[in-house]
Amino acid sequence: MPDRKRILITGGAGFIGTHLCTRLVAEGNDVLCVDNFFTGTKDNIAHLLREPRFEMMRHDVTFPLYVEVDQIYNLACPASPVHYQYDPVQTTKTSVHGAINMLGLAKRTEARILQASTSEVYGDPHVHPQPETYTGNVNPIGPRSCYDEGKRCAETLFFDYKRQHGLDIKVARIFNTYGPNMHPNDGRVVSNFIVQALNGQPITVYGDGLQTRSFCYVDDLVDGLIRLMNSPDGVTGPMNLGNPGEFTIKELAEKVIAETGSKSELTFKRLPEDDPMQRCPDITLAKDKLDWQPGIALAEGLTKTVAYFRDAIDG
Ligand code: NAD
Ligand code: UDP
Repeated sequence: MPDRKRILITGGAGFIGTHLCTRLVAEGNDVLCVDNFFTGTKDNIAHLLREPRFEMMRHDVTFPLYVEVDQIYNLACPASPVHYQYDPVQTTKTSVHGAINMLGLAKRTEARILQASTSEVYGDPHVHPQPETYTGNVNPIGPRSCYDEGKRCAETLFFDYKRQHGLDIKVARIFNTYGPNMHPNDGRVVSNFIVQALNGQPITVYGDGLQTRSFCYVDDLVDGLIRLMNSPDGVTGPMNLGNPGEFTIKELAEKVIAETGSKSELTFKRLPEDDPMQRCPDITLAKDKLDWQPGIALAEGLTKTVAYFRDAIDG
């Protein structure tokens, strides 16, 4: 009999959570998906509802949760700047109170717990590419701070629960991830550009488009998260998970236009405040400790993602 675990995924109805739930159910685990549907949708997980090993609970992680589990993936938190800035106080509460509640649950049940942290903990970095040892350049009072500082405080809580209570923790620093099941109105760059290109609308490049990002296809990321969760006891992270291929936002726009065959043109908009100029993960640690590196290059991932959005838009 396979090693079947009871796994809680908070934020399981969101973009990454959906892929993680699907994969962990397919591997024979009992999966409990907890979500308040702020950015996640029931449609995302509809295909899992008939699975006897899958359960869905509407719940806000800023309130305590009492369930019995072996592993917890704490993903609950809006990830798109548009969504996390919509109600910034709730964003900080979700990261901080959510972490406290899920760590309390892990303490009581002796579950292993993984935090979905972010490259945003590096802010607008002065070190490039970013290794985990870099402590970042983050504005504590800007429009992105509710997310960046909320995630940084969650990391602090994870390591204090480990030091103080001996919790079994794992912290992943996720870099920009994309793929099928992103919400068309999510507001993040890959989904925005693909939807605009498919609809023949102008492609909205913020600033001069020379800022860079590194884009990881969601299947690679989910594989990294599962490997980190199941890594040996001494491996806690924080660990960068991302694709080191680095592209300017203008290059991304050109690739999306080529992939879609769109006639859309670029339109340049104001750069949002505190928008980081460059971001690229140093994944030496993940290669070494997890034997993990992304296998899907941007061109291949864009082909799959464009196919998904074409279907979603057609109908
Ligand atoms: P998403 O917005 O699609 O998913 C987040 C999910 O959390 C949604 O289903 C939302 O409804 C749920 N949620 C939000 N607040 C909640 C609350 N208080 N209680 C319960 N559920 C709540 O985002 P995603 O891209 O799937 O990101 C998942 C996680 O990974 C997030 O923690 C995010 O910070 C992290 N992350 C993502 C990326 C990325 O590029 N996608 C990069 C870095 C980190
Ligand atoms: N961006 C853009 N056009 C868009 C959406 C985003 O040029 O329609 C830019 C944004 O300013 C940032 C980059 O793309 O420089 C990545 O933005 P996203 O919101 O996807 O994630 P971030 O890495 O900033 O959290």
